[in-house]
Amino acid sequence: MGLFDTFIFDSPIACSECGKPIKSAQSRNFGSSLDTYRVGDAVRDCDIRLGIVKEQCYCDSCSGLNGAKENDTWLVIWHGVYAGAYASYESAEIRLNSIDRSTLLEWHSRHQTEKEEWQRRFRSFYAAIEEWHRYSVAEDKKAFLKEPLAFIRSNLLEYIKSDDPLGAILEGYKRDNDTTDLDGSDLSG
Ligand SMILES: [Zn+2]
Repeated sequence: MGLFDTFIFDSPIACSECGKPIKSAQSRNFGSSLDTYRVGDAVRDCDIRLGIVKEQCYCDSCSGLNGAKENDTWLVIWHGVYAGAYASYESAEIRLNSIDRSTLLEWHSRHQTEKEEWQRRFRSFYAAIEEWHRYSVAEDKKAFLKEPLAFIRSNLLEYIKSDDPLGAILEGYKRDNDTTDLDGSDLSG
């Protein structure tokens, strides 16, 4: 109860009141399990095979004036996959009818790129934590830092200058160019 899923837009939808870009919508019409979906993602617990679902998205810029201004958004679902969000039903219908092999390849390519990026980030993050751990349990820290290869894979020398090295590592791996941070919090607004 009260939970929702977030659907990120590929292209922002302009607020009908102020024109500012809106980047996502929330919906309780699906699994309502606090999942975040990007175009090309299969929607969990989705009973809709093909369809266009009307939702309201909220403009942050208009909130505080007369409450958050609501805007209609049309989510396109294609065989259970989130296929896009549009400001008009007509645009959504065109999208629904135009999905073809090239669309599938585009989604596939996007997922592969994302998978590779997450693997890279995980390996790098793991190396930073592992090296911090080895440093923190080392009895002779000065000797440890003189070992060749002791911190080859991370910025350990930078992190240990901080009063809070673990906090510095977490901060260093925060994501600022996407809508979902490593800690799972949604920054899309
Ligand atoms: Zn607005």
